[in-house]
Amino acid sequence: MSEAENLFERIIAREIPAEIVHETSNTLAFRDINPQAKTHVLVVPKTRYRNVAELAAEPRLLAEVITTARTVAELEGIVESGYRVVFNTERDAGQTVFHVHAHVLGGEQLGFFGR
Ligand code: C5P
Repeated sequence: MSEAENLFERIIAREIPAEIVHETSNTLAFRDINPQAKTHVLVVPKTRYRNVAELAAEPRLLAEVITTARTVAELEGIVESGYRVVFNTERDAGQTVFHVHAHVLGGEQLGFFGR
């Protein structure tokens, strides 16, 4: 497995430092190293799935990732003001780390995105 692929496994194993925001038995939430908004937290399942298309085969775990994203939003105080949950999936979406992760973005007005 390449460095980019096992990066989040190494964060989960505490081999690489990260600012951890929340943890459940099956998920970990930590701050993105290169934040794109005031709040930018990544939520990962501790078990590796390549992307959200693969994680969709495990609906309970997928739901736990979304629930953890909500807990992160609560901890950050952005449930009411609003937040965005994004799964970049493969090349055209710009996925660079192939351990599925939900980006939780908020804390300020977010721009439109697409092309
Ligand atoms: O969706 P995508 O795969 O592009 O997102 C990967 C994210 O992982 C990036 O936002 C990047 O800043 C983040 N990252 C990180 N810590 C690292 C390496 C990458 O938070 N050590």
